[in-house]
Amino acid sequence: MMTDLTELTIAEASAGLKKKEFTAVELTEAYIANMDKHRNLNAYVCETPDKAIAQAKISQEKINSGQGGDLEGIPLGIKDLFCTKGIATTACSNILKGFVPPYESTVTANLLQAGANFLGKLNLDEFAMGGSNETSAFGPVINPWSKDVPLVPGGSSGGSAAAVAANMCAAATGTDTGGSIRQPAAFCGVTGIKPTYGRCSRYGIIAFASSLDQAGPIAKDVTDCAIMLKAMAGFDNKDSTSSQQPVPDFCKVLGADIKGMRIGIPKEYRVDGLNSEIASYWDKAAAMLKDKGAEIVEISLPHTKYALAVYYIIAPAEASSNLARYDGLRYGNRVDGEHLDDMYTNSRTAGFGKEVKRRIMIGTYVLSAGYYDAYYLKAQKVRRLIRDDFIKAFEKCDVILTPTAPSAAFAIGDESMQKDPITMWLNDIFTVSVSLAGLPAMSLPIGLNHDGLPLGMQIIGKSFDEENVFKAGYCLEQQAGFKRK
Ligand code: GLN
Repeated sequence: MMTDLTELTIAEASAGLKKKEFTAVELTEAYIANMDKHRNLNAYVCETPDKAIAQAKISQEKINSGQGGDLEGIPLGIKDLFCTKGIATTACSNILKGFVPPYESTVTANLLQAGANFLGKLNLDEFAMGGSNETSAFGPVINPWSKDVPLVPGGSSGGSAAAVAANMCAAATGTDTGGSIRQPAAFCGVTGIKPTYGRCSRYGIIAFASSLDQAGPIAKDVTDCAIMLKAMAGFDNKDSTSSQQPVPDFCKVLGADIKGMRIGIPKEYRVDGLNSEIASYWDKAAAMLKDKGAEIVEISLPHTKYALAVYYIIAPAEASSNLARYDGLRYGNRVDGEHLDDMYTNSRTAGFGKEVKRRIMIGTYVLSAGYYDAYYLKAQKVRRLIRDDFIKAFEKCDVILTPTAPSAAFAIGDESMQKDPITMWLNDIFTVSVSLAGLPAMSLPIGLNHDGLPLGMQIIGKSFDEENVFKAGYCLEQQAGFKRK
């Protein structure tokens, strides 16, 4: 009997394709069958199976003639925040329903260039604002690990993480502004990496907070993340913040000896009331790395306690400015009114959801005269202090190990999460400081909690040192031996 092709990692599938064990079309069809089977999860908001098959046929010809890129014939899911030429792109917002971009984002263009085919667009929190995928105009995504009650997949890349966990794509793109790759990866028991700010081009990715947004992969394991990131990353003259740094072959460091690697444990992250299972997995993860020859060092990130406050000033400020372009004239939905101003108001009132409106309100407030100095400028200063903390800490260590999130996946509609927006925002406690500092960080599954739900560990690296993150991540993955769903 042929094994289920959707169980294969990208590395395994690529090897199988080269050895002619199956064809690219068969691989793609297997994923399409799983998309049908798991449609109840609501992971995809737009499916493009015909395009994927057509692309797979082209890939097969290349494979037959011994050609093809690193992702030749590999079926991927794309977060619906990436503009895809000729394919509806909505950011899961009503204001963009019906928008079909006339161009391709650089990251997705890079993936196509590497030979991948796209199965469709994946659900997310509206404009990537959220941590549970519940703010999507297409409704929530269900975490494949749910048992009796439907659980959130995390957010904002909830569709991406759920689709990877349920084998509805070989890997997916995500974006991370304050944790949106890492936290959903943790909640769904898969692996994701937010690279250094500037590693991937932001061209054609619908903007949330431009100084924080970064693209990265969510995949079945560390190796697949390495393959994906290499294909996605690189300088792009269409994004002035994209970096000229050469992109290393991240796969080369996988399996390398970590003897002597210094692993920093930030003492401030042992927050009061930290979930005891998460704390114990954190200790175990450090012990696993130590077993392999790493040295564990205590470090201090004293300004971490301000990170959430800083993030929830800076991100909404940038969002309010970025989202000013949705005026009913240029993109998507329009709701007419008597005068031009009414049309703006009506379109934005109907088009944006509650969380997006909340962020626009906060953003315009902190940028307004009188409050700009009190909030925005101060937040920028503290942001620098947070970055300086990391620079100092990295004098003593090579990577930093922390939990990814303070909890496992919670129930959709969980009352304690809904009672005020701050509770949901607190879930970002371990991820936002990394984003403010622009550093690379990976989340990988470490084990299950008492409810049988996955928990994630985060490995943070120095600027443009994804290689040490991959090295430590691969080692931890081998040690932990986590079984994918
Ligand atoms: N949960 C965070 C927020 O709501 C992060 C979102 C993201 O990284 N896109 O802003």
